[in-house]
Amino acid sequence: MDIKHNENEEITNFWNVYDVDLVHQKISQFLTSYIYELISKADQDGRNNPDIASRICYNFASSNNCQNPNCRMYHIVPTPLLLFQRLKLARLQYTVVRQLDVLCRYELHNEEINNSQKWWAETLVKCHMCYQSPQTSCPEVTRMVLNKLSVHIRDDLINDVYKIWLFNVSKDADNFEVMLKRLFVIQQLQDKKIIDEFYQEMSKTKILSHPSYLPVGFEYYCGIYQMIPVGRHLALFFSFLHTNKVIHAITSSGAFINYAIKNIEKVNLASSDALGELAFLMEFTTSLIFAVGQEYCDFCLPRSYLINYFDVFTVNPLIPGRTIYSRKNYLSVINNSIDQVQQLLDLLFCKEEIYLPIILRLLRLLVLINLNETTFTQKILNLFKHFFSKNKIFSIKIKTYLEENRLVRLVAVLHNDLREMRCDSLVIVRYQSNSISKFAYFEKYDGIKNLTYNSIGKFRSSLRKIISSATGIPVDQLI
Ligand SMILES: [Zn+2]
Ligand SMILES: [Zn+2]
Ligand SMILES: [Zn+2]
Repeated sequence: MDIKHNENEEITNFWNVYDVDLVHQKISQFLTSYIYELISKADQDGRNNPDIASRICYNFASSNNCQNPNCRMYHIVPTPLLLFQRLKLARLQYTVVRQLDVLCRYELHNEEINNSQKWWAETLVKCHMCYQSPQTSCPEVTRMVLNKLSVHIRDDLINDVYKIWLFNVSKDADNFEVMLKRLFVIQQLQDKKIIDEFYQEMSKTKILSHPSYLPVGFEYYCGIYQMIPVGRHLALFFSFLHTNKVIHAITSSGAFINYAIKNIEKVNLASSDALGELAFLMEFTTSLIFAVGQEYCDFCLPRSYLINYFDVFTVNPLIPGRTIYSRKNYLSVINNSIDQVQQLLDLLFCKEEIYLPIILRLLRLLVLINLNETTFTQKILNLFKHFFSKNKIFSIKIKTYLEENRLVRLVAVLHNDLREMRCDSLVIVRYQSNSISKFAYFEKYDGIKNLTYNSIGKFRSSLRKIISSATGIPVDQLI
């Protein structure tokens, strides 16, 4: 260390005596630049490590075969344990990069530090947190690792998410991708105050100077001289859900999804990443429809749905006492959901290679609807025929779904698809009652689990047991 002598310095024989503040300052300068160097190196090394910095290639994971010579995604075949380790490492990497905060006090490299922290937050969300497919994602693993984030790092991550997906209603009312990302990611991190903030933003009306011209992302409000963001429906979805007004929540999200599908390009939802968020909302809404289809729940959904939608958001809709649909209204909302999935699939099939994981997600959703409400079996089988004859299909997996013409076999296709990596499986969810489940015939299928409950706590604990036996991850790790 090269410390310049200053005026306060006294020379006593061979001793150089320095001012203590100066020494401290020099030591911390030395240490900060050393720490900065080390963490920058960890940052760079991390970016070259596909285990933490890349998404898993769906094609490779599911068929061991990726035809795209330019594919930059990670080619491995995952297991729940591998995804667990990957996410733990990514969490550690983010934690390390967040330590650079210490250096910001010294006003050093502030911009580089901010960029690097944001880059890793975005990677953590996009490559690890966002649900993609039963072949590349395992929600119970995601939940487990996120639950163990320290309070401090969780707050940092929430702040980073706010910064990455910046949203300003006067400029971004037409950016549905950002709306969905912010709302989903931040709620997954268990921060509920965003719902009220978002609702207030979305309730601001504006005067229309030219009533015949309505900007994208807005709809008329009380006549044709005022407008309000369409995103308000999304805000209402979460607010209603929060107060357990499930039917109102479903109606609101239905309106938002409708608008989104009709304006997919204009509302910035055309990328497969953004469509993943829309699919998330569609799956979520359909699960809620099943939840309030009858007083005592009796439905069958994948584990991933139970975690992503009920465990993370709310279990209240599964408990008797809430308002439920009449049979007639129930069938009509299901019918609406099928139509929405069809409209979206009609748009996506022409670019099968880009949208493959999303297409499969929507096909699975149709099979699930079919499984839970057989009234529409013929409609859905006809739809599959329609997709098959209208499009040139490349994916073997899509063909397997579309070519099936019997419900029982279709459910078997779905069941095997979900179980391929042990990351997912079908679960029969049933409120404790004396009647026999309509899925009783089904319980003998290998790997299909029963979840019986009579309270929120019992639902969560039974779900943990099922996860543990299906993935081999111990229950105590799952809390
Ligand atoms: Zn690939
Ligand atoms: Zn997401
Ligand atoms: Zn509306």
